[in-house]
Amino acid sequence: MAEAKIPKATAKRLPIYYRYLNILFNAGKQRVSSTELSEAVQVDSATIRRDFSYFGALGKRGYGYDVESLLNFFKKTLNQDRLTNVALIGVGNLGHALLNYNFRQTNSVRISAAFDINEEIANTIQSGVPVYPMAEMKEQLQIQQIDVAILTVPIEDAQKVADELVTAGVKGIMNFTPIRISVPTTVRVQNVDLANELQTLIYFLDHYGSENTDN
Ligand code: ATP
Repeated sequence: MAEAKIPKATAKRLPIYYRYLNILFNAGKQRVSSTELSEAVQVDSATIRRDFSYFGALGKRGYGYDVESLLNFFKKTLNQDRLTNVALIGVGNLGHALLNYNFRQTNSVRISAAFDINEEIANTIQSGVPVYPMAEMKEQLQIQQIDVAILTVPIEDAQKVADELVTAGVKGIMNFTPIRISVPTTVRVQNVDLANELQTLIYFLDHYGSENTDN
């Protein structure tokens, strides 16, 4: 597959490009220059040109990039043309916030089921998402064909719940707990440690000021 060759850093910028191109497209714009894009998405134009060359999109001098064809390419690459249902495990403070947020700015992912061990919250609907007891997790994941889960349980339960998710056949876990969970190599984990991210930001500000060298 062509996408397999796209570097990780480039792949990370894809959703940013996609969102902005969508705005341009909806506004009726047919083309965009890398300079214009650069200002809007805050990525330098040389990086944009290099990124886009991986997609086989070579902007024409004095013309820029064709918005619609780029958008179609990104749609396919990002699977924006299909809806992925995702589960959330642990409807505490962070879990609630994510249910309420529910990735509304994209049409391609949504949390369609949540699970919690607490009997008071199980069998309720939170922010429009049904919350099931843990005993029903495996069955619901299968019925709803969910293979991605967001993990927002307490640290001490993270590994145990991750094991349950793996047993239930989940292929990807977005881990919001600060511990590194162990999973088989067939399962992918994306760690989102919010406290760590914030501390990293503060560290960089303290040591290097606000000058951005990480484009
Ligand atoms: P809150 O103040 O609402 O408890 P929190 O995010 O600080 O918020 P945590 O103790 O981190 O709460 O728990 C998050 C959620 O995970 C809670 O709703 C809790 O019931 C649920 N939870 C705890 N253990 C498990 C488990 N083993 N499986 C599924 N859910 C769990």
